[in-house]
Amino acid sequence: MQAAKLDIAIVGGGLAGGLTALAINRAAPTLSLGLFEADDAFGGNHRWSWFKGDLGPAGSSLVANFKRTEWPGGNEVRFPAHTRHLASDYRSLDSRDFDAGLRNALPQEAIRTGCRVKGLDAAGITLETGGRIAARAVIDCRDAAPSEHLSGGWQVFLGQHLRTGTPHGITRPVIMDATVDQPGAYRFMYLLPLGEDEIFLEDTYYADEPVLDRPLLRERIERYARERGWDVQVLHEEWGVLPVITGGDFETYRASLATPGVTLAGARGGFVHPLTSYTLPIAVENALAIAGAATGDLAALPKFVENRATDHWQRTGHYRMLGRMLFQAADPEKRFKVFQRFYRLPEPLIERFYAARSTTLDKLRILTGKPPVPVGRAIKALLGKGAPLIQGTEP
Ligand SMILES: Cc1cc2nc3c(=O)[nH]c(=O)nc-3n(C[C@H](O)[C@H](O)[C@H](O)COP(=O)(O)OP(=O)(O)OC[C@H]3O[C@@H](n4cnc5c(N)ncnc54)[C@H](O)[C@@H]3O)c2cc1C
Repeated sequence: MQAAKLDIAIVGGGLAGGLTALAINRAAPTLSLGLFEADDAFGGNHRWSWFKGDLGPAGSSLVANFKRTEWPGGNEVRFPAHTRHLASDYRSLDSRDFDAGLRNALPQEAIRTGCRVKGLDAAGITLETGGRIAARAVIDCRDAAPSEHLSGGWQVFLGQHLRTGTPHGITRPVIMDATVDQPGAYRFMYLLPLGEDEIFLEDTYYADEPVLDRPLLRERIERYARERGWDVQVLHEEWGVLPVITGGDFETYRASLATPGVTLAGARGGFVHPLTSYTLPIAVENALAIAGAATGDLAALPKFVENRATDHWQRTGHYRMLGRMLFQAADPEKRFKVFQRFYRLPEPLIERFYAARSTTLDKLRILTGKPPVPVGRAIKALLGKGAPLIQGTEP
């Protein structure tokens, strides 16, 4: 099959690819686009969440294309030593709504689900089915791959959308309930009330190994619900094993994945929050920047995004350092203390932390005071390299 030449081919219709397609279509509707996704739906099986303040007016306008859940009453964290109600309002987007929003907003000819791309280069893409599609610009937004060039640990989780039978009484998102037992990892429950008798419950832990024991996590969620008197029915389930990047050689990492003349973006291109994996604000910002640049010289796009990625890596060094403290300086069952202490800090600082916009003063505040980890091990962790992120991440 030989299709007409596209202006832009985006490979990978996940969060980054989908938002980039949407932003380009809004900024430059005359450019012809193709959003090529291997699966039958865009976005995979995820729920992406963020804080209201993470997005500026342009970002909020971009995500307004999607049906999302919004909670007006702030959010909450729970630790053994303290519980805190924070004022930031929370937002969440289900990938099924992401898929529906993209199908609604993009031109029909741009929607290329069920299209696995076998090869890509500066002049176009080759589909697994054999067809070649020429494009003036190619943007690679395929999934992030484990790499020996990056080091760190893993955030492992399984979440279930549950019906609770009777009203559950949770009125606002609980970002971390770390009062649960800490079996060899920093573990917490994440709660999103989705209705009077519907709730999303996720068991999450920061682990040294990318091992996802789904039956165990299901059992923990069931126990957590039972202890609260909820007689639950599972409506939907998702899971993930995300890298928590604590160091590495970013230039070599990117070079190992780059194709000459192709724009490398998304989590694969380094556009992630290294510690929390809260990626949506970063993906939105990048999609808007790419869309702005796409109205100019398309040949300049790969370098433009590479520069942004390098800048992002440099700006987020602080979070990688905190990650090293979390994984290497703290005993696994005491890792919660790093977050317990962090959540005593002023709220604007916490908000900037999640949006990866910490100021120099924030960084100093986070590190000053009594450290929740032994000082000798903290120094060793700061100087150390960490474990390579090479294990497979597939559950
Ligand atoms: C269950 C889960 C929950 C998460 N929750 C949050 C959250 O609350 N907040 C947050 O900000 N982040 C969250 N994350 C992290 C976030 O999902 C990722 O960081 C984000 O999805 C990365 O976006 P991406 O577009 O770069 O990659 P992905 O979303 O992984 O998308 C890559 C896409 O490329 C497609 N693809 C791959 N190869 C090909 C090919 N050859 N041809 C065509 N298509 C291809 C894949 O099918 C996939 O759809 C979560 C992740 C998971 C797994």
